[in-house]
Formats: sequence, C-alpha cells, structure tokens
Amino acid sequence: MPTSREIPVLYSAEEIEERIITLAREIALKLPPDLMIVSLLKGSFVFTADLIRALYKIGLHPQVDFMTLSSYGASTESAKTVTINRDLTEEVKDRHVLILDDILESGRTLQFARNLISQRNAASSRIVVLLEKPGKREVPISADFVGFTIPDKFVVGYGLDYANYYRELPYVGILDIH
Ligand code: 5GP
Ligand code: MG
Repeated sequence: MPTSREIPVLYSAEEIEERIITLAREIALKLPPDLMIVSLLKGSFVFTADLIRALYKIGLHPQVDFMTLSSYGASTESAKTVTINRDLTEEVKDRHVLILDDILESGRTLQFARNLISQRNAASSRIVVLLEKPGKREVPISADFVGFTIPDKFVVGYGLDYANYYRELPYVGILDIH
C-alpha cells in the first residue's frame, strides 16, 4: 500500500478551496441562511469543516449535526442495505436540511439519508456532495450541488479513506491498488 505522499493528485488543495467558495455561493442562492447541515461521517468531515466556513464568509449561519451510516451486505452491490451507526442529536422537523456527503456513487447512502430526513418531516432537503461518479448510480437520486464529477477511479484524501488511511491528504488523489 502506498504511503500518503505517494498518492497522485486528482484535485489539488487549491482547486478544492476555490470550488468550495463557488459551491457556498450556489447554496446561498437556493437555501435560507438558517439551514441545517446533516453531515454524513466519516468521509465528509473535512469537506464539512471547509464548507461551513465558506458559508460563514457569505453570511449563512447553519446548525451542523452529524450522522454515521454504513452499508452492509458486501456480497453483491445490489443487496447492500444502509443502517444508522450513530444518529443525529438534533431534530430536523420543519427545518431546511442540507445533507452533505463526500461522494455519490451507487446513491444508496444518500437515498437512505434523504428518506430518513423526509420521514422526520423536514421542511425541505437538499444534497451536496464534494464528488460524484457518473454512471455508477443504482438508485434514482441526484445531488443538488456537486463539487466535482470524477472518473470511475477509487479516490482518497480530503477525508476519504481506504481502510481509514489517507484521510489526512489535503487533496483528492487516486489510489491504484488493483
Ligand atoms: P454509495 O452509497 O453512493 O454507493 O456510496 C457512497 C459511499 O461509498 C461514500 O460515502 C464513500 O464512503 C464510499 N465510496 C464510494 N466511492 C468511493 C471512492 O472512490 N473512494 C472512497 N474512499 N470511498 C468511496
Ligand atoms: Mg462514506
């Protein structure tokens, strides 16, 4: 397994920083300043930290809460089910919720999260992801805001992991171990 310093760059720290400033503006145009952010752990913690500070700079004051979801049933992709490892501590009822995740691939995680938020009677729910892989969707869901659309490669860094390694990379890189 390569060390962190051997991972080739897909999006540099500077490119990510610039994109997040623009994403924050796009979000501010569509959502009220008192939105509630639901950040899906663990992969999105770095993205969350940067996005909320970009939102602050343009005058938003969100609440932020976290939820840990995981998918089980490794045998086949389509058999995967999502469960809650750690739930929110805040109520989402009547709130305008922005669900935040690191990457949208099959869509199962975000579909589960969005269903949960609407079952709990949120006023609205939107989705923002740092990355999306097109052509990998297994359920009909799309993100309202997307940082980057990436090739079908396994990426790490900027919070995204492989076996909990590489989260510390300040950039998004490609892990080629196959
Ligand atoms: P989905 O439920 O959309 O299939 O998967 C979303 C989750 O799969 C993400 O939150 C992330 O944890 C994981 N994932 C999907 N693609 C990648 C990838 O290229 N790299 C990493 N590190 N995680 C990924
Ligand atoms: Mg994840």
